[in-house]
Amino acid sequence: SIKNRHDVNYCIYDDIIRDGLRRQQFVVDHIDEAIANDYIKVFYQPIIRVETGKICGYEALVRWIDPNDGMLPPSYFVETLEKFHLIHFVDEFVVKKVCQDIRRLADQGEELVPVSINVSRLDFEVCDVFKLLSDFCEIYQIPHNMLEVEITESAFNDNTGIIKDATKKIREADFDVWIDDFGSGYSSLNTIAEYEFDVLKLDMVFLRGYEKNPKSKPLMKYIVSATNAMGILPLCEGVETEESYEFLKEIGCNMAQGYYFSKPMPLDALIDSMYAKGYEWEELG
Ligand code: C2E
Ligand code: MG
Ligand code: MG
Ligand code: MG
Repeated sequence: SIKNRHDVNYCIYDDIIRDGLRRQQFVVDHIDEAIANDYIKVFYQPIIRVETGKICGYEALVRWIDPNDGMLPPSYFVETLEKFHLIHFVDEFVVKKVCQDIRRLADQGEELVPVSINVSRLDFEVCDVFKLLSDFCEIYQIPHNMLEVEITESAFNDNTGIIKDATKKIREADFDVWIDDFGSGYSSLNTIAEYEFDVLKLDMVFLRGYEKNPKSKPLMKYIVSATNAMGILPLCEGVETEESYEFLKEIGCNMAQGYYFSKPMPLDALIDSMYAKGYEWEELG
């Protein structure tokens, strides 16, 4: 009956809410312990220079590896930590880990490329992101041009000026600023003109849509050429097929990232795997 069906739906909905709340509670209750016990890990995904096919960078992507629950992806905890204003604890930890990893590679004489780190919009409200980056670079003796910060496009919709001022300071100190997830939300083309930044990451929604939607290809081509014309480097996320990689070559997209090249992995495993696949690393400029 309609009533029963309604009850079933109601129960399912109730379960989803209860699971969501349970997960939130778990995340909030255990984040300190996870950081303290090194359950928070940094995985890396290579970024490829389209023109040469060489590795020109890595993106640092956080993982929570819980001894009982296994690997928890950012979708499990980032939003919750943002909601409870705890995300900066994770981001600070990631910056430190990345600097330690770069130092270790340098000491081992391994190939080095810059690493881009995702920072939450909320980090800018509770901590000095510039100081965070420069302090860890100082401690681990890392040149600033080895780090880039990725800030999601929607963060630029703030009218407080906090992000604008902070990113200006960060860029003046020779860290690059990248805009992440462009095109996924309420993109404003004006953001591109309004803010100073170095790389525009086109969200994977573009590549996901482009097989089905004939308007996607010309739109990407247009964004890529506008970006190039402004002296900003375009990077396309979510490259999963040879065909989409070929398309990026065709439209002059500077960088590419996606499962086609590699999934995010622990650093040493990634380096081994990329060597095995015959990739080369770009010389530091
Ligand atoms: P993002 O920065 O846009 O990162 C790209 C996401 O797409 C990553 O998911 C990556 O694993 C995934 N990805 C890469 N290539 C492909 C592909 O070819 N196909 C598909 N389907 N997916 C691909 P991940 O690692 O789960 O991260 C999700 C989001 O969590 C990130 O999106 C970022 O917004 C956030 N995040 C990750 N690490 C951190 C961090 O350290 N701090 C903060 N504040 N946020 C983080
Ligand atoms: Mg990112
Ligand atoms: Mg992104
Ligand atoms: Mg994204």
